[in-house]
Amino acid sequence: MSKLQIVRLYHDLLGTYGDQGNAEVLIHRAKARGFEVELHEVAPGESIPDSADIYLLGGGEDGPQSIALEMLLVDGGLNRAVAKGASLLAVCAGFQLIGTALPNSAGQDVKGLEIVDVTTIYTEQERCVGELVIAGELDSDGNQSILTGFENHQGRTKLGKGVSPLGIVLRGFGNGMANDSGQIDEGVQMGNVFGTYMHGPVLARNPTLADQILTSSLGALATYDDEFAQALALERRATLWPNN
Ligand code: GLN
Repeated sequence: MSKLQIVRLYHDLLGTYGDQGNAEVLIHRAKARGFEVELHEVAPGESIPDSADIYLLGGGEDGPQSIALEMLLVDGGLNRAVAKGASLLAVCAGFQLIGTALPNSAGQDVKGLEIVDVTTIYTEQERCVGELVIAGELDSDGNQSILTGFENHQGRTKLGKGVSPLGIVLRGFGNGMANDSGQIDEGVQMGNVFGTYMHGPVLARNPTLADQILTSSLGALATYDDEFAQALALERRATLWPNN
């Protein structure tokens, strides 16, 4: 098989709380399964290749987020790549950017990348800061996956009709608004596109999510028992969600 191509976008603008480390986790876990991996750093102003396998967008403050949005819209490479089936992990500001609309740094609502049908607004409510715990999908043994991360955002994000979240909030804010069933959604998952408010970096804290993203690109993966990654995930879960 050809090398797995990973693109890390604008990490100088969008890389709060170590989000750029998500690339390292994917590389490590893909190599552990025998895949060769190539990482492409795309700096602001450089053109975005549209033929890679996995794209990563991180979180950022409002100013850098607005600058990133303008460049992503003008370039169009990320949209083309996702339309061709590439996988995408977008964290916090990145998650907001891939939606249909969000506030810019001047507080005006602007068009997002329109990759997923989610809309972000700023409200007068408190800022969403702290540890976040979500219940993700059931694994092959029927166990609910519990994911954890750190969140810090003002935006609250509503999913469009029929759009699935990455999980349901157990602790923290997540997307910050109740859905029609009164639960609070966290993130989004649509095909190979994953959006979340979880920093950490999220893939270091949640190896199952890292493998889900790799699987979306590579297909079924061999088991990989990374005891350190597993121990961190379990420690965070046990501390933040002891009921589980
Ligand atoms: N600027 C966005 C907000 O505050 C995203 C913040 C972030 O990426 N941590 O909602």
